[in-house]
Amino acid sequence: MLAMARASEDLLLVHDLSALAGVRLRLDEPLARYTSMKIGGPADYFIEIDNGAALAQVLIALGRHQIPICLLGNGSNMLISDRGVRGAVIRLTGEFKKIDWRETGDQVEVEVGAAYAVTQLVRQAARKGYAGLEFAEGIPGSVGGALVMNAGAYGSEFEKVVEGVEAVNFAGEAVRLSRVQMTFSYRDSHLPVGLVVTRVALRLRREEAAQVNAKLTELVGKRKSSQPSGLPNSGSMFRNPPGDFAGRLIEAAGLKGQRIGQAQIALRHANFIVNLGGAKATEVRQLMELAQSEVRRRFNIDLIPEVKFVGEWPER
Ligand SMILES: Cc1cc2nc3c(=O)[nH]c(=O)nc-3n(C[C@H](O)[C@H](O)[C@H](O)COP(=O)(O)OP(=O)(O)OC[C@H]3O[C@@H](n4cnc5c(N)ncnc54)[C@H](O)[C@@H]3O)c2cc1C
Repeated sequence: MLAMARASEDLLLVHDLSALAGVRLRLDEPLARYTSMKIGGPADYFIEIDNGAALAQVLIALGRHQIPICLLGNGSNMLISDRGVRGAVIRLTGEFKKIDWRETGDQVEVEVGAAYAVTQLVRQAARKGYAGLEFAEGIPGSVGGALVMNAGAYGSEFEKVVEGVEAVNFAGEAVRLSRVQMTFSYRDSHLPVGLVVTRVALRLRREEAAQVNAKLTELVGKRKSSQPSGLPNSGSMFRNPPGDFAGRLIEAAGLKGQRIGQAQIALRHANFIVNLGGAKATEVRQLMELAQSEVRRRFNIDLIPEVKFVGEWPER
């Protein structure tokens, strides 16, 4: 009976969503292809949305049907369970990839859609001689994901360049936040739960293009020499504990190269876990738990995951 009620509820929702312009719905869509780890089971509802009006309508429809919502950027900071995601996974595209530059004297403001790729943004800024984003070269996220995560590297992070955010709440209402209304900390933007970031305003400054590009080249070199390349991964699995580095601690615990199934603690950087081919989310998670328990046992330090666990996990 319950299953029948569920099925008819599903049909109603599918009907509602399919009628919306600028929305593409897929049922039971495998998510591995949308994550940098290449891991993740199916989403009940996978919804790609092209514009703000469609987004508001989708959020209202999902709310009416009480469907849980998960936002997917470029999936570069997520571990999605093998069982996948019950509810809706939303991915922004279309007009959420627009970008506008405004230059006033030495000051530059860029308004960029949440689905825009960070690496593309960084390179465009460098080409134009706009400084401030060089630290983000090589961060494979979307602008929305980078804002939410307060992504950072080499002593800088998104909070240093953010001016404001446009978003939509789960009731479908537009929300604007200026920099003073936001609180950032290490890898966290503390945005209210249930906000979908749609557009971000950043403040950069004009400099010599050669200077900006030289900084970029230097940081690309640093990244290449310290991080694993070629194998799917999610970047740093753990936050760095105050005054130390998660990678150093995991390596000192003797876990570099440790494998569970097809997941391996990277040989090049112990805070990375790489997918050797066909790794399961459970294998990655077990490896993370092993790192946590060994680092706790040897150094009495708790490693806090930086990656977000998404979806339906087996009872732990
Ligand atoms: C090789 C590699 C190197 C990396 N290097 C770095 C680094 O140097 N520094 C660093 O900080 N990170 C790094 N990362 C991690 C990751 O790239 C960043 O955290 C990135 O900002 C995540 O963006 P994303 O679009 O992939 O977000 P996702 O992984 O898709 O999502 C991350 C979180 O943001 C939420 N989210 C995404 N988009 C939106 C939106 N529009 N509205 C509301 N919520 C949203 C998601 O629900 C999730 O909770 C690295 C990852 C890899 C694979």
